[in-house]
This record gives sequence, C-alpha cells and structure tokens, in this order.
Amino acid sequence: MNEETTRALYERSLSTLVGGVNSPVRAGSQPYPEFVERGEGAHVVDVDGNRYLDYVMGYGPLLLGHDLPDPVRDAVDGAVDAGPMYGLSTDLEVELAEFIADHVPSVERLRFVNSGTEATAAAVRLARGATGRDKIVVMQGGYHGGHESFLVEGDAERPRPGSAGVPEAFAEQTIPVPFNDETALADAFERHGDEIAAVITEPLLGNRGIVRPVEGFHDTVRDLCDEYGALFVLDEVITGFRVGGLSCAQGKYDIEPDLTTFAKIVGGGFPVGAIGGRASVMEEFTPTGEVFESGTFNGHPVAMAAGLATLEYAEENDVYERVDALGDRLRTGLSEIVADHAPEYAVVGTDSMFKLLFTRDESVDGSDRYPRDGGDVDAGDTERWRRLFRPAMKDRGILLPPNQFESQFVSDAHTEADVERTLEAYKDVLA
Ligand code: PLP
Repeated sequence: MNEETTRALYERSLSTLVGGVNSPVRAGSQPYPEFVERGEGAHVVDVDGNRYLDYVMGYGPLLLGHDLPDPVRDAVDGAVDAGPMYGLSTDLEVELAEFIADHVPSVERLRFVNSGTEATAAAVRLARGATGRDKIVVMQGGYHGGHESFLVEGDAERPRPGSAGVPEAFAEQTIPVPFNDETALADAFERHGDEIAAVITEPLLGNRGIVRPVEGFHDTVRDLCDEYGALFVLDEVITGFRVGGLSCAQGKYDIEPDLTTFAKIVGGGFPVGAIGGRASVMEEFTPTGEVFESGTFNGHPVAMAAGLATLEYAEENDVYERVDALGDRLRTGLSEIVADHAPEYAVVGTDSMFKLLFTRDESVDGSDRYPRDGGDVDAGDTERWRRLFRPAMKDRGILLPPNQFESQFVSDAHTEADVERTLEAYKDVLA
C-alpha cells in the first residue's frame, strides 16, 4: 500500500495542527492518520489513491453514505445558492423541527445548535436552570462530548476531572454511576436526591464498544427522576434516527425522557446539534425563559436542508430496513467467525451499529456485554486491536475507526457484497 502522500501530509500537518489532527481519535491510526481525498458511496479514497470500504462513516452522521442522493444534494445546493447563512430564521429550521417532533413523541419544542457537545452542554444547563439544582448523574463509560460537566471520571464516591483543565468544582457536581446498574443509581439518589438536576445517559453506550440497556434500566431512571424531581436527559446524538429508525432509540426501547439531545444524522453530514423535549422545560431557554442559549450558526440553513432531506429520504426509501438487515448479517456472520476463531471476543451492536470487541473481561455479561464499572471494558486487548487487528483489516481494504471502543456504522451505500467481503476479511485476520 503506497502511503507516500499521506506520510508527507502528516509530517507537514504536525507543524501547524496540534498532533497533526483536529480531533484526537484520528491520531489513533498508526503510523499516520488517514487523509481523505474523497468519499464514494460506502468507500473513502485517501490522498494516495487507496480505496477503503468505510465503517467509520463520519462517526455516525452518514446514514446514506458518502454520495448524497439527488434530493439531498438538491436541497443542499439550494441552501448554498440562497446564501449559506443569515443569522436569521428560515422555513428550513421550522420544517426540520416539525419532522423531528412528528416522529419523536417526547419532543414538543426544539433548539438547534451546532454539535452534539453543544446540545448536551445546553441540555444540562437547562436542567440545572429548570430545577435550581447543580448535580448531574452520568454513566461510567458514557460519552456526551468535550464539556467540563462530562469530562469526569471515577465513581459516585470519588468523581475526578477527566482532563487537565477541568476544575475540581465541575467534578464535584457530577456523579458517575455504572450503566445498567439500578442499585447504584438508586444509591446516588438516596444520598443526593434533592441536589440532582438530571440524569444524562445514552439509550445504549455507543462509545464504549456498544453496550445495550438491560430490560427496565431506563424505566428505573424515569421513576427515580420522577420521585426526586430531577430531569431525564436522553443523549441520542449517535442513536437518534439510527437505532429504532425514525422513532429513535427511545421508540425502540420505550424510553420516556424529559429532554433529548440529537446531532450527527440530523444534520445530514453537516455540523448540527439539537435539544428537544417537553414544552414546559424547553420554554426555560431564552428568549422565553431564563436559561441562556445562543449561537451565530444555530439552525444553519445548509445543515437544516441536508438534515431534513436526509430524514425524508430515509422515510420514503425504506433505508432503515436495508441498513438494519446489513447490520444483522454482519453481527450474525461475525458471531460465527468469532465462535470458531476467537471465542473470548464479543460481537456487539444493534440495528446498523456493530463492533467486534476485544475483551476477555469475566465481569462482562454474556448477553448484554456491559461493563460493571467504567474500567472493566478497558481490560480488553486494546493495543492488540489497534496495532495488529485494525492495520490488518486496513491492508484488506476495510477501514475501521482508530479506537476499538468506537462503534462501526453501516450506511445505505453498503451492499450485501460489501458485507460478505467484510466478513471474509474478519475471518482471514482472526484465523
Ligand atoms: N453524545 C454522544 C452520545 C456522542 O457519541 C457524541 C460524539 O460522538 C457526542 C455527544 C458529542 O457530539 P459532537 O462530537 O458532535 O460534539
């Protein structure tokens, strides 16, 4: 594989971009980050002309693949031609808000922002403002973006900053508990119930190897929030309009949050975020309420047009049926391969998300494979995955995310032949 141009570009980038990249996960690719020239359907082509079947898929937004179908392209072109942005209101943001509210019953009002991180940060501020409380409960191994309130590690007893630069004062207001652990959650409420503004959780952990919820976990979150007067914030940044199709993961798992955060697919490949929820809470956002939220690019017309056209395309073209079937085939095929060649490893995922997790951890549950605390899943063979497995897959033309805990995504551009080719590559490498 020729990587001359990639290597030269990486060396050049090191003098201007921190670590040669704009997001740290990209530097996990050894020995160089991928520098992409273009996307083609389910593939990316790098600056050296190497073509890879892509399962990074932009880390989730690219439900339809790299080529925009005509209606999406026309919508994007139309928004660009009309002038890319105004800082003023448009019909597009109203239509996208209506589409989301029509398909997600818990959402009565929305505010569009520009990333998942902005959405979760604003949702938590809203919950704090609405309840007059400061503490939030988060799940160990959950991810809500790079904001001070969420960059917290440890446990309920000893929360600590998860990054230099995060003040202890933020960590003190964050209570990390194990995902799927109803007892730990109840304990947190027993000890701090009248100080907890919100529980924020993903429907499934999407950045920790894909950890599905155990039956009843989200009901317990709902009940405890009701009992203690806290808000339930569901982070659907990854799962929104991917898991559970147009009703999102909350439809699939029957979850009833007060607030939901969206991003990724909702922008059709352009930067976006959104907070949605009950009108009585959402009205606390300025200008009608007291909780400040604002943004020059909020409701950016190109992202609104792309997101709306993407969701309408998905609705009209049975996209979820196809991508979920491909996801099923990948998980089933991979499970067979793993049973033969690496029975200690786990195949995880649902709908169009999947992952082969290199974990040998005894405490990982056989059916749902969830970490009993944030650290367990890290006991997997992370280095083996990163240094040997991923490069070996790349040699076979299959591009996986550079971090073993990041989900892999199937898009509508992937074909059955792509899936079979992928399974062959897994088999070859694992054998
Ligand atoms: N929440 C979840 C569940 C995510 O997976 C992510 C990003 O992957 C975020 C929030 C942060 O979103 P963004 O990277 O758009 O800021």
